[in-house]
Amino acid sequence: MIYINKKLRIENINLVNIAKKYGTPAYCYSYNQLKDNISSFKRNFASFSPIICFAVKSNTNLRLLKEIKKFGLGADVVSQGELMMAIKAGINPKKIVFSGVGKSTSEITYAIDKRILLLNAESMSEIKKIDKIARSKNRKVKVGLRLNPNTDAKTLSQISTGKKENKFGVNEKTFIELVKYCKNSKNLDLQCLSVHIGSQILNYRPYEKMLKVIDKIISKVNYKFEFIDLGGGMGISYTDKTKQLNYRKYNIAIKKFLKKHNSKIIFEPGRSIIGNVGTLISRIIYIKRNEKKNFIILDAGMNDLIRPALYGAFHNIVPTIRKQRKVKKITEFVGPICESTDKFLSLKKFQELNENDIIAICDVGAYGMSLSSNYNLRPKPIELLIEGSKIKVIRKRQKYTDFI
Ligand SMILES: *Cc1c(COP(=O)(O)O)cnc(C)c1O
Repeated sequence: MIYINKKLRIENINLVNIAKKYGTPAYCYSYNQLKDNISSFKRNFASFSPIICFAVKSNTNLRLLKEIKKFGLGADVVSQGELMMAIKAGINPKKIVFSGVGKSTSEITYAIDKRILLLNAESMSEIKKIDKIARSKNRKVKVGLRLNPNTDAKTLSQISTGKKENKFGVNEKTFIELVKYCKNSKNLDLQCLSVHIGSQILNYRPYEKMLKVIDKIISKVNYKFEFIDLGGGMGISYTDKTKQLNYRKYNIAIKKFLKKHNSKIIFEPGRSIIGNVGTLISRIIYIKRNEKKNFIILDAGMNDLIRPALYGAFHNIVPTIRKQRKVKKITEFVGPICESTDKFLSLKKFQELNENDIIAICDVGAYGMSLSSNYNLRPKPIELLIEGSKIKVIRKRQKYTDFI
């Protein structure tokens, strides 16, 4: 996003004009930002050309998935719905991995029928279920095993997944048993060791530690894995202050690992691909002033973007028309929903705002629309893809008739 003559733009499009033409709230995505993110992700790990499986749960928009597919990415899915959407977007099942602790019989059956790259199992019960279904179909199914490396990702506790108190993956002891089980099965083809220690990770050291844990357990089980799936979790900068993940150091750690283990690396990035691609624009319905604060009541609420309410996540808010004058009272941006947690951001000072002004909530491309709901029976926002001077509606605004 960029200000030109004090007006905020995505690519060549003025956001105030978008609000006028398409209404608010509206999710706006920048095509060129998506393109840049994917090329820089590839560049960071170019020396070993990994398989990059986009984490569909971060953004399930069909049109965006089609664009992501055109850049050569596969998909990481966590439900049958996501698997169907990825296939609908044209992603080759040979580039799709299926993760998640609770895959149902119907989901496993569907994935086996589609001959996807890997089913990454997370428990003994799941492996036995996959084995049974594979046997009934007389098939040999490619599987991965998700290890819980007991590594602290040093991120928000709500989005940490790689510690022993988290439900994800299996511990070392179970992992060893699972490898044995797979070796003895005629219907399981164990190809992958997978991990995913959490999300919004900005420090490379947990990744380094995780690689050491993987290295150790591979030596212990003495098994040649075709693939090592390192998951996603690469963080992005939501504020100007937070630091970036040091990709160079992460890359060095992986290259060191690969000197010992000749496997193909898989990544499952979501946020780092799509996070800063999306902006949510919203209109100020009312401004309510009290002694302490100015409440800026927006037409976007926690049903449209739940991350601040759910994780206490920070999303910056910026005006679409810049003004000089600052208000020195607390400016608190809130939604219209009947919940006290329906609050986006509280700032000590902000420029002067008026009712009907349009503001922009930044970096909402990941876990924005995909976590949206119809709470308070509010229709879901429109989604727009912007490329240069072109605007495409990539999902229509929901109508009341869609649910009443
Ligand atoms: C959520 C998830 C990802 C993506 O995480 P990001 O932080 O968006 O990169 C990757 N792999 C698995 C197994 C996940 O659950």
